[in-house]
Amino acid sequence: MNNVIEKIGVFTSGGDAPGMNAAIRAVVRTAIYYHKQVEGILMGYEGMIDAQFIPMHARSVSNIIHRGGTILKTARSENFKTKAGRQLAYDNLRKQGIDALVAIGGDGTFTGAEIFYGEFGIPMVGIPGTIDNDLYGTDFTLGYDTAINTAIEAIDKIRDTAASHSRLFFVEVMGRDSGCIALASGIGGGAEYVLMPERSTSINDLIQVLEEGAENKKSSSIVIVAEGEHGGGAYKIAEKVKARFDHYDTKVVVLGHIQRGGSPTAADRLLGSRLGVAAVESLLQGESRKMVGLVNNKVAFTPFADATTKDFILDKELIRISELLAI
Ligand code: ATP
Repeated sequence: MNNVIEKIGVFTSGGDAPGMNAAIRAVVRTAIYYHKQVEGILMGYEGMIDAQFIPMHARSVSNIIHRGGTILKTARSENFKTKAGRQLAYDNLRKQGIDALVAIGGDGTFTGAEIFYGEFGIPMVGIPGTIDNDLYGTDFTLGYDTAINTAIEAIDKIRDTAASHSRLFFVEVMGRDSGCIALASGIGGGAEYVLMPERSTSINDLIQVLEEGAENKKSSSIVIVAEGEHGGGAYKIAEKVKARFDHYDTKVVVLGHIQRGGSPTAADRLLGSRLGVAAVESLLQGESRKMVGLVNNKVAFTPFADATTKDFILDKELIRISELLAI
């Protein structure tokens, strides 16, 4: 046990994700269990610079496990990218007596954490919180399971109207650099095809798939488009397809930010709870500069330097399954 650490600061940073509150709750209660003090830092790194600290107690995190978003609020801080901003953040942490940090966020958050550690040596452990599920070093990130459940619920509803009217729907889901949400919601929602940044699909290929579907007497079709797909997004692709394939009435739905919100699923609450406990226990055991994740359902630590530079590899088997089941 590290007796040097007396007060732990916890913050959320970058995009919000369902399950962050479960992680905050777990961090606060684990610290208290080990007789440590905890401060919540509002608005991520920006709140460190503005000295927005709130003391946290076991009751400060009552009734939050089921809530989406983050009670600590989140922000993207340009100031923290400057040396002067980070110096101010560090000075404020010292004044507040905070001697270790738990950062909940994505790769940008951990890039900042690695730089901050390099400059000031304050122990830090990160919890992956981003709906995109695109971080190296963990099988799942907080918010991903909730996001794909939200997307699938929407696709189910779209399917009802698609089948009733013989329609072709292009459904755009989140994922600027990653097709994880698109692929999982495509398989779970029974889509005909999934377009994503990890593979390039020509309009000819897509039209061929749709034509085969029509020949196989499909009454409707659903194509999932990840927002970062190289063809320019769901509207552009729909336009190109419509010009050459008019078997179905074509519609576009962009799911947008509803994928970020909502009550976290059981899986995200469990993940946030497990990673929150592991983050605090590892800090107290002297761990630092690492992200805590789950690999093969076991807690695993990955250096920030690897989590932020190594690529998350999409499971090719899932691509095969999505195509095999769409006949
Ligand atoms: P998401 O995956 O949801 O976008 P993220 O953590 O990757 O989450 P970013 O906006 O990229 O979100 O990063 C969060 C914050 O981390 C930034 O606003 C900035 O304050 C800090 N940060 C990112 N990169 C750096 C950097 N190179 N130097 C210092 N701080 C950084």
